[in-house]
Formats: sequence, structure tokens, C-alpha cells
Amino acid sequence: MEIKAQQIQVAYGEYIAVKDMDIHLKKGEITTIIGPNGSGKSTVLKAITRLLKYKKGTVYMNEKDMLSFGSKELARHIGVLPQSHTAPPDFKVKDLVSYGRMPYQSFGKRNKEEDERIINWAMKATGVYDLREKSITQCSGGEAQRVWIATVLTQQPEMMFLDEPTTYLDISHQLDTMKLVKKLNKESGIGVVMVLHDLGQALEVSDRIIVMKQGKKYGEGKPEEVVTKKMMKDVYNVDCDIVWIDGRKKPLIVYKEI
Ligand code: ADP
Ligand code: MG
Repeated sequence: MEIKAQQIQVAYGEYIAVKDMDIHLKKGEITTIIGPNGSGKSTVLKAITRLLKYKKGTVYMNEKDMLSFGSKELARHIGVLPQSHTAPPDFKVKDLVSYGRMPYQSFGKRNKEEDERIINWAMKATGVYDLREKSITQCSGGEAQRVWIATVLTQQPEMMFLDEPTTYLDISHQLDTMKLVKKLNKESGIGVVMVLHDLGQALEVSDRIIVMKQGKKYGEGKPEEVVTKKMMKDVYNVDCDIVWIDGRKKPLIVYKEI
């Protein structure tokens, strides 16, 4: 499973938000997209997952034009958690999670036992099984986020796209979410493409990082190759040092004193 975007250009009316974008995503990898606010991260994510139309370029999934897939077939390959999402207020957790099985229903037919098994697996994997009878509105931010991830997992996608999955979570829930992503990637081999703001976390969890600046790709590569003093200055206009500490596999970003 792989997704290749070639020379994608996306515009909102006259405003070109993303241009000349090439992306190659592989199953089994964790790819993180970073960049300042408004640099086009969400736009790219939406364009390659077909939530948004692009003006130029082509996106291929397994060498076939992405536009040629039926929507259910597409949802069996990729699962998407957009940056903002809302659930109807009176939804129970397990009912929301079960929505992920929609792509596997055809002509009213479904394999109830199989569905049940996967729904329970997804709720257990994300640690929301005990919340299953609760209404989604009674969940905390961290719980709700895990419920959404469970819903995406229930689709059994080969690749999942998470736009800022940790925003608004406290540090402990941020780390829980990162651990969960890492575990799912390791155990099920699911490909993960996400947008993160915390560059320290991006360094730790990613196999590859893509840096966006003003609608274009600024750089791409292994985390420690991409997150450099120069990149931080060029892209974020931030002064910092990148330091290696004995016993850690990845460097730390040390910001200049305020
Ligand atoms: P990021 O996710 O990196 O913060 P976005 O992809 O959301 O950035 O936005 C990229 C640019 O496109 C920004 O300048 C933003 O203001 C603009 N933009 C995003 N969504 C819309 C929209 N629906 N209509 C018009 N402009 C938009
Ligand atoms: Mg965004």
C-alpha cells in the first residue's frame, strides 16, 4: 500500500493554499507533517484523502488514480480524522465506533459477528472499552480523542491520517496518544500520517517528517535530518539549539530564553 501525490495544487477560490506538492507515503511508516499555522498542512492532508479537490496534479493509491476508487473501497484503505470533528450529542461511544464498519456493508448485508469483534478490538486497543455505554458528550477531551481514533481503526484502514490528534490534550494525554499511535503502527503495521505541533514529539515518534512552509514543501527526511537549527529559523523564525543527550535516541530542541 502506498500513496503518491504528484505536483498537487489546491486553492480556496483564487487563493492558492498548496502548490507543487509531491508526497510519497508508505504503509508501515509514521510520517509527520509539521509547519507553522496556515502553511497548508490540513489542506494537503484533505487533498490526498479526497476530502478536498485539487486543481492540479494527481494522487495515486497503489499506482491507481485516487479519484477512481469508490468511496467505500477508499474507506477500507484509508481512515481520516480531520482537525475538527463533531459527534451528534446523544451518541453512545460504541455506536460512534461502530460507524467505522460502514465501508464493509453492502446491500444491507453485514457480518455482525465480525463487526462486533473488530469494534471491540478497536475499543480495547484505544482503551475506551469501559466507556462504551457512555454518551460521547460525557467523555473528556482525551477520552473523546481516543474514541475517534477507535472509529478510524474500526475501518481497518491500511493507513490512517490524523490532523493534530493531540491539540487541546494535556501532556499526559498527548503522550498517551503518541504511545497509542506507535503501538498500533508496530503491532498492526498500520501506516500513520499526522500533523503535529509539538516538534519534540514529532522527533520521537516519526520515521519521516515533512516540513511545510507557505503552501510548499520545505524539506523532508528522517527526523534528525529535518529538524535542524536552520530549519527552525527558516520555517518558524525561532532561534534554538539542537542537542544530543547521552542515552536518548533523538536530539532535543532547546529554545533560546525568552
Ligand atoms: P495549516 O493546517 O497548516 O494550519 P491550512 O491548510 O488549514 O493550514 O490552511 C492553509 C491556508 O489556506 C491558510 O492561509 C488558510 O487561511 C487558508 N484556508 C484554509 N481553509 C480555507 C477555507 N476553507 N477557505 C479559504 N481559505 C482557507
Ligand atoms: Mg491545520
